[in-house]
Amino acid sequence: MNKLPVGILAIQGGYEAHAKVLCSLNTPFLYVTLPTHLYKTSALIIPGGESTTLLKFITENGLFEAIINFKQQGHPIFGTCAGAVLMAHTVKNPDQPALQLMDIVIERNAYGRQLASCIKFGKFIPNQEEMEMVFIRAPKIKAINKTVEILAQYDEEIVCVKQANCIAATFHPELSISSPLHIYFLSLI
Ligand code: GLN
Repeated sequence: MNKLPVGILAIQGGYEAHAKVLCSLNTPFLYVTLPTHLYKTSALIIPGGESTTLLKFITENGLFEAIINFKQQGHPIFGTCAGAVLMAHTVKNPDQPALQLMDIVIERNAYGRQLASCIKFGKFIPNQEEMEMVFIRAPKIKAINKTVEILAQYDEEIVCVKQANCIAATFHPELSISSPLHIYFLSLI
């Protein structure tokens, strides 16, 4: 495996919880707040939080273009919840700009208010094992291009997808005790 650490966008939201998961998997990490930090990383995690805040910060600090270039250079990127919103091609409710790293349409806050936050279980398709999924003011993936692979669903909802070197999950895998998704993401590096 590449010796460079995995970057975690560390502006706001759940970045510390992702760092704990990487530590538990003996994987070095680096908090990313500037474009130059990306040069020292092998992959990037964009955590959940508030996508509007994350978008404002990455735009004002040169990270918007830097993350797009990072993906084009072939580095894996993993967005969770608000991170998934940032990775979408199209964002609704309301419309907002995004990095457009994946051909998915995503609707923000699609389960309703904070009270509609919930824990569900669904199969992680790559290993066929049951996975806990924590949804917090989560978005919904409303449409995917046919080159997008579904990694997890519960009922009819598509909650985790992969396209090329990018993964988006509408839930918070970093808040569950085991995270097959992080292990899967690290295998892409
Ligand atoms: N509702 C947030 C947004 O749309 C995402 C919430 C989360 O990341 N837990 O930005």
